[in-house]
Amino acid sequence: MPIPLLDLQAQFEEIRDEVMPAVISVIESQRFIMGEQVGRLEEAVGRLSGTEFAVACASGTDALLLPLKTLDLASSDEVITTPFTFFATAGAIANAGGTPVFVDIDPATFNIDPAAVDAAITPRTRAIIPVHLFGQMAPMQQLLALSARHGAVVIEDAAQAIGARQRNDGGWQLAGGTGWAGAFSFFPSKNLGGWGDGGMTVTDDADLAGRLRLLRVHGGAKQYHHEEIGTNSRLDTLQAAVLLAKVGHLAEWAVGRRRHAAAYDEAFESLDAVAAPPVAVDNEHVYHQYTIRADHRDELRDHLKGKGIGCAVYYPTPLHLQPCFAELRKRGGEFPESERASREVLSLPIYPELQSSQRDTIIEAIRGFYQ
Ligand SMILES: *Cc1c(COP(=O)(O)O)cnc(C)c1O
Repeated sequence: MPIPLLDLQAQFEEIRDEVMPAVISVIESQRFIMGEQVGRLEEAVGRLSGTEFAVACASGTDALLLPLKTLDLASSDEVITTPFTFFATAGAIANAGGTPVFVDIDPATFNIDPAAVDAAITPRTRAIIPVHLFGQMAPMQQLLALSARHGAVVIEDAAQAIGARQRNDGGWQLAGGTGWAGAFSFFPSKNLGGWGDGGMTVTDDADLAGRLRLLRVHGGAKQYHHEEIGTNSRLDTLQAAVLLAKVGHLAEWAVGRRRHAAAYDEAFESLDAVAAPPVAVDNEHVYHQYTIRADHRDELRDHLKGKGIGCAVYYPTPLHLQPCFAELRKRGGEFPESERASREVLSLPIYPELQSSQRDTIIEAIRGFYQ
């Protein structure tokens, strides 16, 4: 039996009896735009991230783009981020009118390196976008200290990290709720995934929340009256209903993911060719991905795929080497840790419904490859 990288069918079987009535009730109401479920989901996600405000939108990409748009960036304005991320992080910066400034990652966590951020800050830096990659938070305390010192805001790309936490000064800081703004994605494969696209921005800044609520409906609070030029970026009521049915399961799903991670970690301890993903001491990881570094990565990937085991390389090309950013004039070798990660990483199945016997099959297949 093949083992997929992610098995949404298994999740659906588990929650079918909760989610189907919720969807049918939206259909029966025929209120497809901004139904009451959207507001309820905003309250639930606001609670999850510990923020006062949460504003749903059409995608995780827009959840990054809309707060960036409120900064009214000129092309001389710089936004510092990591090149080892999904394209949307940097694409949103460019689409908001700013210039992405890439800095290298910390090889231990795959997350942006605060020392590299510090070195890249200029008077033109308007924002810093750390990505909580694979479900582990970037070092927020250090990044927030830099932002306070230089007057640049921090927008967390928390698309992969909903529910993740970081211990700071004895308390927990929550993914998305720690910077000025945080962006979540509800793309189907994310830890909290809808049945289509969706996203949400969270913040404690009332002015920002107000701007986001305007921007997502063409900049108009009153119908046919437009304060500014926004766009159409609402979350469908149907998506909100699906996500509300799932959100109560998120914490138990994260426990399942961590259980698989612990078993993988233990198995790979005795395997020199594989490095398990380290977790920073203060972090509680939600394992959107379980991403190893592997010797002979491409051959291992082909070996696993040949055995019907799903696995994937996130991400094969760091963003500074993408053709669309050629004008930034970055060359290979500029961000060696991001480039090395692109050559070494491989993400393995970690979804909560994965059976322990399937996990053992994956571990055996990896052991077999190196013998
Ligand atoms: C998924 C993702 C996004 C974009 O979210 P969409 O909902 O697909 O638009 C942004 N950043 C990261 C790191 C992501 O993983």
